[in-house]
Amino acid sequence: MLGLILVTLAGVIAIAWIATGPLRARKRRQALSAITFPAPWRAILKRRVAAYGRLPDHLQQELRRKILIFLGEKQFIGCNGFVITDEVRLTIAAQACLLLLNRQTDFYPDLRQILVYPNAFYVERSEKDAAGVVWERHALLAGESWSQGQVLLSWHDIEEDCAHPHDGYNVILHEFAHQLDQEDGQIDGAPALPSKERYQRWSRIMQQEYDALCTAAARGDATLFDYYGATEPAEFFAVITEVFFTRANDFSQQHHALYQELAAYYRLDPAVWN
Ligand SMILES: [Zn+2]
Repeated sequence: MLGLILVTLAGVIAIAWIATGPLRARKRRQALSAITFPAPWRAILKRRVAAYGRLPDHLQQELRRKILIFLGEKQFIGCNGFVITDEVRLTIAAQACLLLLNRQTDFYPDLRQILVYPNAFYVERSEKDAAGVVWERHALLAGESWSQGQVLLSWHDIEEDCAHPHDGYNVILHEFAHQLDQEDGQIDGAPALPSKERYQRWSRIMQQEYDALCTAAARGDATLFDYYGATEPAEFFAVITEVFFTRANDFSQQHHALYQELAAYYRLDPAVWN
């Protein structure tokens, strides 16, 4: 009898704990975002994150608040001897949070850790060929997003992106776009959208543009988007996200409907920032 009571009590406590989770998260985030943002951190943002300087004041303020929450919730791990500094944490957190501005967010709920390597790093890949034979190979990567709670990044490549902020490439934006993509349970190039109609519109516009990029890549035509986006729809979403934030004017002029669709999702219009 006592055993049954204890089990029932444990169940009630567990349910109550789960039920109050969102409330506890909200309180924790309120406390984190109320911390004073250190002046040296602002200097890092200005030095490293070109988009920060272009944001209107209210979005700069919101970005700083989101960074504080992100830093309070995610763990940074240096790999291959790499040392995590404020410069590293701020540079990554700022660009991860750029994708979360101006809308309701649960701060990449699946993500727990950011692993930072000094340079491009090798990962093991197994791939099946047309004959069904599985091959093991090493792939050299600048970044990778895992669905089990990690993002992997090369600091050398991040520094390259910081030095060339308008060339259309940004490994941080790319990998965190993959994290957004998986929030609805599937990594398929469509992040969580509010309605069936929005999914249908998203799917129609993305498919059209994805097919056009595949055709251009097969022909070798010049394109605004890297051919890597033609690998699969998930990569297409990550690649166009990079361009959306780093070459917004070109994007808006050359692929207006697609730009509008991303602007509706991100609730941002980077083409009008300074
Ligand atoms: Zn990718």
